[in-house]
Amino acid sequence: MISIAIDGPAGAGKSTLSKRIASELGFLYIDTGALYRTVGLFMLSKFGTGMTAEQIDGAINECKIAMSIENGKQKIYLDGEDVSDKIRTPEVSMAASTVSARPAVRAYLLELQRKTARENNVLMDGRDIGTVVLPDAQVKIFLTASPEDRAKRRYHELEQKGLQVSYEDVLREVIQRDAQDSNRAIAPLKPAEGALLLDTTGNSFEKSLYQLKKLITDRLDALGLQY
Ligand code: C5P
Repeated sequence: MISIAIDGPAGAGKSTLSKRIASELGFLYIDTGALYRTVGLFMLSKFGTGMTAEQIDGAINECKIAMSIENGKQKIYLDGEDVSDKIRTPEVSMAASTVSARPAVRAYLLELQRKTARENNVLMDGRDIGTVVLPDAQVKIFLTASPEDRAKRRYHELEQKGLQVSYEDVLREVIQRDAQDSNRAIAPLKPAEGALLLDTTGNSFEKSLYQLKKLITDRLDALGLQY
């Protein structure tokens, strides 16, 4: 099986680009942030925004998550309820970042991710795919952009969904989440050894798409892999 690992900070365009490239290459696209978001949603509904480390550790085994691919789209279920849309709010983003710093949460989600990669050619995106989840991935990419560019993208995404947010709040959240994700003791956000770096600051979507796809296919070709 072939694994492509794409890591990087919030709003670098990982999921939009990854989804498109996975479908063009015929790989399964796995958004691992959705798993952490689902745990975040679960803990939020149980404990609210003041959730403590002890509460998270104590409740993680009750969090029943299932992932499936329906019509080529990843769906995520919490206790049998489809929460694929519910997890896309700024409140859930912050909760995801909070729960993801707990080793118990990361361990809980690790096998689900590895199993998917054992059974399929995957393009998986997240924060620690190349460093922890799939260290043997044939292709590892670290995708980034300036905080302002990333906040702009997130802001437009949320706006399109009809959510009322200000650009300043989104920028603040992006910076806070970067700091939280990069400074945590376990699986901090950082480029994996041997990762190819791509900075999409100032790029159009088409330009980023072209650059990222070329990085991936050049690497697969260099390894002589059929896809
Ligand atoms: O990618 P997304 O913004 O949906 O991720 C939400 C949060 O989940 C991130 O801020 C990060 O804290 C956490 N996450 C992680 N490891 C991953 C994917 C996401 O810690 N592989």
